[in-house]
Amino acid sequence: MCFADERRSNFAAPVREEAGLNKMRIREILKFSLIDYPGKISAVVFVPGCNFNCPACHAKKILDEVPLIKEEEFFKYLAGARQWVNGVVVCGGEPTFDADLVPFARRLAAAAIPVKLDTNGSAPQVLERLLDEKLIAYAALDVKGPPRLLDNITGTVPAPEAIKRSIRAIAGFPDYEYRTTAAPVLRGDGKISFLTAAELADTAAMITEITGSDDHKYFIQKFVPRKEGLLDKRLESFPQTPLPLLEEMKAEVSKYLPKCEIRA
Ligand code: SF4
Repeated sequence: MCFADERRSNFAAPVREEAGLNKMRIREILKFSLIDYPGKISAVVFVPGCNFNCPACHAKKILDEVPLIKEEEFFKYLAGARQWVNGVVVCGGEPTFDADLVPFARRLAAAAIPVKLDTNGSAPQVLERLLDEKLIAYAALDVKGPPRLLDNITGTVPAPEAIKRSIRAIAGFPDYEYRTTAAPVLRGDGKISFLTAAELADTAAMITEITGSDDHKYFIQKFVPRKEGLLDKRLESFPQTPLPLLEEMKAEVSKYLPKCEIRA
């Protein structure tokens, strides 16, 4: 899920068509964004569907509810906006589960448009393919938390080996970042509490260990509450991640990833 999700009310509404007329399954387009692709003015493409069910997610449900947009409509918009749009962000949902992601990225590469991909890291084989073909300029991996909490945070049972393989793959892209949302976690005892600074430090240590390096960009993102639409309604009344907790997290994470930043 990318940051543009928080500004859904600004979404463009180009001509929509139902499934069958599309190539890449696009549910939403943000015509331009100044914050989703570092250093670029980007158009943001939202791809529906995700293998995770993160309780704090607001994007998956929304993206399942709106009609599809024709891929050609997106490229038509892009052709007319090239004087100010100089990058494309592909996010979701989870774009790596769309069979047409690679051809879509090839088409953008052929048009010399840098692409940023946001992923949850479940499909390392797709990341490796994109890497081999040099189709992605910037990759952002949501590392949800330490392995022992992945089931709780993702609402499913991810394959830890796939996530680890993706953590390795991401560091091969020309530019990349790791990031974690400091979200509330449904604990095994029925309680709900924010990820702790120690849990985030374990996440950072895992990245350092898997990549053999501490020289990575890592962003801690705050959880932003919503009145409705989260996959688990119990989190809708939860507060925003408190700033002191974010700062404590940064201090702990910096021991493993010194380039850690809070993304407000
Ligand atoms: S990975 Fe989680 S937060 Fe991201 S789209 Fe899937 S369910 Fe939502």
